[in-house]
Amino acid sequence: MALLQIAEPGQSSAPHEHRIAIGIDLGTTHSLVATVLSGKAKVLNDEQGRVLLPSIVHYAEQQTQYGNEAAPFITSDPKNTIVSVKRFMGRSQADIKFQHPYALVGEANEMPAFETAQGRKTPVEISAEILKQLKDRAEASLQNPVNGAVITVPAYFDEAQRQATRDAAQLAGLNVLRLLNEPTAAAVAYGLDQESNLSTDRNYVIYDLGGGTFDVSILRFSQGVFEVLATGGHTALGGDDLDRLILKWAKKQLNIETLDDAEYAHFIVAARKAKEALSDAETVQIQLLDQVLNLDRPTFEEIIKVALDKTISVCKRVMRDAKLELDDIQNVVLVGGSTRSYAVQKAVGDVFSQEPLCTINPDEVVAIGASITANQLIGNSTDGSLLLDVTPLSLGLETMGGLVERLISRNTAIPVARRQEFTTYQDGQTAMLIHVVQGERDLVEHCRSLGRFVLHGIPPMTAGQARIEVTFQVDADGLLTVSAKETTSGVHAQIDIKPSYGLSGEDTERLLLDGYKFAEEDKNLRHLNETKVEAQRELEALVQALKVDAALLTEEQLAALQTAQAQLETELQGSDIKAIESAVEQLKIHSDAFAAARMNQHIDAALKGTKLDDWSNSN
Ligand code: ADP
Ligand code: MG
Repeated sequence: MALLQIAEPGQSSAPHEHRIAIGIDLGTTHSLVATVLSGKAKVLNDEQGRVLLPSIVHYAEQQTQYGNEAAPFITSDPKNTIVSVKRFMGRSQADIKFQHPYALVGEANEMPAFETAQGRKTPVEISAEILKQLKDRAEASLQNPVNGAVITVPAYFDEAQRQATRDAAQLAGLNVLRLLNEPTAAAVAYGLDQESNLSTDRNYVIYDLGGGTFDVSILRFSQGVFEVLATGGHTALGGDDLDRLILKWAKKQLNIETLDDAEYAHFIVAARKAKEALSDAETVQIQLLDQVLNLDRPTFEEIIKVALDKTISVCKRVMRDAKLELDDIQNVVLVGGSTRSYAVQKAVGDVFSQEPLCTINPDEVVAIGASITANQLIGNSTDGSLLLDVTPLSLGLETMGGLVERLISRNTAIPVARRQEFTTYQDGQTAMLIHVVQGERDLVEHCRSLGRFVLHGIPPMTAGQARIEVTFQVDADGLLTVSAKETTSGVHAQIDIKPSYGLSGEDTERLLLDGYKFAEEDKNLRHLNETKVEAQRELEALVQALKVDAALLTEEQLAALQTAQAQLETELQGSDIKAIESAVEQLKIHSDAFAAARMNQHIDAALKGTKLDDWSNSN
């Protein structure tokens, strides 16, 4: 991967003025804010001295409550108490398959709204309320308005989810300096970039298991610069799942079949308390209805194994992506509240054959890193080498035969711009459809369509002569702009891709996994489609040539050519690649003779004194 060092030196007009920049970890479970004061990153607490703001909003008829104040209503008023809203960000009704107590409204393919005592509230609005709380906290604590913010998102967030986050920040009145991947922020917090005196490259694994998301990233630190080698994860796997697994186990132990919404919300809280307590104790008690259960560490380990195994297989996959062996990893860094569990630490330690690092508070590390980046971006710091983020999925466009031409492959560092030249397929073609897709598969139908637009006004030319330059540009937040330009005429068209809300984390995951699973099949399909496109091109050219010069052929030659032509047309209906190839061969034998005859005719014409210009025009 090409590496860019992005230096963004101080841009403040008044050089000595300290501008207020904050870093916000907008978490599924907890959110928090940090800032750099006198060169040191600090998390900011509320008036009660609390750092973690539970990401909970309670909409009562008369008032709205947040965080700890909203928490009691999870059990007493679950429908109006929104928790884990991050799981709903940028996702459609159809994507939401997990259990929740909410009344959602909206079409299946759009981001739903919550029906609350205060009316409809979208995930973007609810997230904005949380961000606003943190902005207010920072302004009260720093006694100054906030000039800019860096907000972190899971590395696996797709463009719809990132866009939803950005919208929420704007709604909260925040000037977003950048969206930053959470594991990247954690690496900054650990100051892994302070090891520049080391002459050898160093590789780090960042394992982040929070409440609702799992991310693993491999970073390489080399000659003073970080490179993100690979990322992977699940947007729907975290501590919440461990709670559900405990609840499932408990229900089975006690022969409880069903729970109503209120009971469910109540027991989930109990399961979570038990899990958290197990990080300090060997055995804990859980009360369910009127019964009490004992849960010890080995049993807990067994219960959550299924979830941890998923994280472990993602770890193995990103190691393969990064082409690294265990020996290449200097350190493994733990991030996220769930990594406080002994069972998690043990599982991670086992897979990487080393003791993972957990020296910075795993709840705070992301916000701290975000504040350091914010401080650089706002111009308070001059050592401005910033970490790079990567694209989570490949980006490309549709070409003939429903094939994907990849312009930016996944795990490419962003911001990035890639340009490629395309041409017209038919003579006199004056418009071209640009269809932008995302995914790892070779065929358009297996990828996700992000958007399409038409480049109009291409001057009529012979097929293959137009030069259409398509540029894909992904900005630092992962938002994509695609533009197309016909260079001989200068006609230009462009779209900003703000995909409709709805590509779920599972979809991202599926698009990735499919890319691996179907690699062989895709290769064959690609080969078939390419062969077909090539054959169609030959046929097209032949039809054009026959229109002009059919008279050059004897009746016999013409008949043979037409038979071969018909044969190829028939084979193109099917998908037998060998048959198509041999029909093309057959056609070539006859069309080569035709081409030779045409060539001779032109040479004759030239010898008779036709100007060279005429000759090339008629060719
Ligand atoms: P997010 O980034 O998703 O908001 P956090 O990093 O705040 O999540 O982690 C929240 C998760 O950490 C919750 O599932 C919570 O139960 C879990 N957690 C918090 N403290 C502990 C603990 N002591 N032991 C185990 N899990 C914990
Ligand atoms: Mg987190």
